[in-house]
Amino acid sequence: MRIDSVSIRLLVLGTVTALAGAVAYGAQFGQEPAKLRVLEAAPDVFVLNNDVAPGNATAVVTAAGVILIDDKFAIDHENILATLKTITTQPIRYVVNTHHHADHTGGNAKLLQLHVPIVASEQAVGHMADDSDSRFVEATAGVPTLAFRDRATIRLGGQVVELLQLGRGHTNGDVVAYLPARRVLVTGDLFTFGPATPQLIDYAAGGSAKEWPATLDQALKLDFDTVVPGHGGLATRTDLRAFRDGTARLSQRVRAMVVQKKTREQIAEMLRAEFGWFPFLLDRGLDGLIGEHQ
Ligand SMILES: [Zn+2]
Repeated sequence: MRIDSVSIRLLVLGTVTALAGAVAYGAQFGQEPAKLRVLEAAPDVFVLNNDVAPGNATAVVTAAGVILIDDKFAIDHENILATLKTITTQPIRYVVNTHHHADHTGGNAKLLQLHVPIVASEQAVGHMADDSDSRFVEATAGVPTLAFRDRATIRLGGQVVELLQLGRGHTNGDVVAYLPARRVLVTGDLFTFGPATPQLIDYAAGGSAKEWPATLDQALKLDFDTVVPGHGGLATRTDLRAFRDGTARLSQRVRAMVVQKKTREQIAEMLRAEFGWFPFLLDRGLDGLIGEHQ
């Protein structure tokens, strides 16, 4: 059963609800191409950004080709190529998936047809090869060709992109891409930015609220100025730290309520009221969150 786009729609619906405090219908992300805008994170580093979903795609432009970090939904593929053409004449030479979710990997199948190698963590590749959790995996046809554990480095046209697995958080296969020379960190969904993007913990894919802050502490040890979040506009180290602190607070609040023997519904209510959680997040995260804090 294919219910991935339905879930994304719920996600967006919930986000809009959390934002506006009102139910709003109509946005069907993944059903139509997203309207893309280009943000310059640093010289030669461009973010193909859109509202809410799909996730950001980041193009690192070098004299020997483009390294593309995340590739949105399949339906956004043509737009990505057209937008890149406004930036550079260089072809895409590598694709990185920060994690397995369909709004970051949906373009994989079409990019593989163009013979572009795609790299992701072993865990993310495992999730993509196993499409039983169809809410997040678009198609098995787009499974990356290269898998790594812990760290990998892409060197292309004088540019260095370090791929680092810093621990569990959003999933167990999250990768950050670090560009030391450009002082840029691309976080995937280990960090989402803006009032409409609370923590999504995908427990079915090994996510962890408890370990997430320590994972971000590792990221904060790196030397960077600009952060490209998984969703949202360009951010700073201070923004990333605030998100880390919010995640730690969430974990502590849940632990305290579990100790006080609060009910599942009371904990859900706290998450809605204090952390802006909407149905999709509760569906993915609530039981795992409670289980992890026993
Ligand atoms: Zn995600």
